[in-house]
Formats: sequence, structure tokens, C-alpha cells
Amino acid sequence: MPTTPAEDGLVIEMRNVATRFGTHAVHTDVNLGIRKAEIFALIGGSGSGKSTLLREMVLLQRPSAGTVRVLGMDLRNIGDGDALALCRRWGVMFQHGGLFGALTVAENIGLPLREHTQLPPALIAEIAATKLAMVGLAPEVAAQYPAELSGGMLKRAALARALALDPELLFLDEPTAGLDPVSAAGVDALVLQLRGLFGLTIVMVTHDLDLLWQVADRVAVLAQGTVQAIGSMAELSQLDNPLIRPFFDGPRS
Ligand code: ADP
Ligand code: MG
Repeated sequence: MPTTPAEDGLVIEMRNVATRFGTHAVHTDVNLGIRKAEIFALIGGSGSGKSTLLREMVLLQRPSAGTVRVLGMDLRNIGDGDALALCRRWGVMFQHGGLFGALTVAENIGLPLREHTQLPPALIAEIAATKLAMVGLAPEVAAQYPAELSGGMLKRAALARALALDPELLFLDEPTAGLDPVSAAGVDALVLQLRGLFGLTIVMVTHDLDLLWQVADRVAVLAQGTVQAIGSMAELSQLDNPLIRPFFDGPRS
């Protein structure tokens, strides 16, 4: 197993991460450490490489250079067995929902359980029902298809699926994007409820200032290929860096 002891309490560490797509350098030198049980947010302009960074944390993308360590494992030369074991320990909610349209909500939530466990179907259905309740969806939603749900319900269902395996790490890419303010506030409240649940660490990408102020313990600002600053919203809001100010001075999104 490719392990070296992680720095104390860090569940995710990125060191000197660079990412290029062809000649386009998205990240030149990204360094960050995420602590167990914190809510850590990534902000930055559109195209600054936030989603790519999340993808690199969950083995969906390989950096061009640098080190990514997750839960004590170096992702660079990870074997298939270790990769599978790690995938079982995190849940991901993608920017564009990612529910399968041909499956009911309950089947979507049960998917990671069918993939990663040998649990009998009846128990999987029971767990799916529990997760639905956890994200505030009514029991009858279980039998519905994604196309029948509103945007806010889709995000909740996707969150329920990400929570199916009781993950240690939860990755959320723009959980409130595209939602009306009321639905967005509902998702904000939900993320807040998840704080500290079984020591859950949450890593999220968001433009949503309400969500950031309400739930983020620390925020990393990504610009020009690197992390410009990491701190609480209160700390960041005091900085004069012209690459950071726009996130605090601009209109609320
Ligand atoms: P953000 O989430 O901050 O908006 P992304 O991480 O999605 O940004 O993308 C950062 C940049 O990398 C963008 O210019 C995007 O077009 C490019 N990019 C992302 N993924 C790929 C890919 N698989 N192939 C080529 N370019 C990509
Ligand atoms: Mg993105």
C-alpha cells in the first residue's frame, strides 16, 4: 500500500499539484490540506479549475504533476484494490446531478450499495429509504424517476446517493447552483445538518455566498493556477488581494 503518515489530522493533502490540458495550464502549483470533520470550500472564477481539483481528489482525473493524498493514501500509484476501497469511503455529488434517468430515485440511491456491498435488496431498499428521509424527501419519491423531480429535489436525491455508503468524505460540486433561493436555502440547511455527522469531512465547490458564510469552516480561493489564500470567510473578507476581493464585493449570487 502506498502510504506514508499524513500530516496530523489531514484527510486530504495536495502538494505542488499542476494540471495541464494540452498546452492549457489549469493549475500550476496548488497546495492545500483539509482537516478531518471540517467543511472546506473551494471558490474561484469560472474555469479556474475547481471541478478539476475535486476530480483529482476522487481518482477521476490525474494531475500532470504533484502529490494528492487522501485518507493517508498517495493516489499517484494506487492499485485497483486500494482504489476501490477508497471509493467506498467517499461520496460525490457532481455539478450536473448525475442521477441515472432510467432508474428510480431509490434505485439510484441503492446503486453504490449494490456496487460496493453484498447487502440483500430488501436491506438496500431500507437504507435508500433512510437516506431519502435524511435529505428531507418524502417516502413516495423513492419510486419516482429523476425527470419527475424539481431541481431542488434532484439535488437532495443526488445527496442521498452520495451518502448511501455513510462516507467519511463528501464532495459537493456546486450543490446549490441553478436552484431558486428557497430550494437553495433548503440545501444550505441540509449541508449544515451534515456537519460533524460521524466525523464527516465535506469538500465543496460553490459560488453561493450564503452557503459559504453559513457552513464553511475554511475556504480556499483558486485563481491563476494556484491557491491565493485559505482562511475563514471572515478572514478572507479582510484581505486586499485583488484576486479575492471580487468574491466579497460583487453582488450575491
Ligand atoms: P471550474 O470548475 O473552476 O469552472 P474546471 O475545473 O471545470 O473549472 O475547468 C478548468 C479548465 O480546464 C477549463 O478551461 C476547462 O475547459 C478545462 N478542462 C476541464 N476538464 C478538461 C478536460 N477533460 N479536457 C480538456 N480541458 C478540460
Ligand atoms: Mg466547475
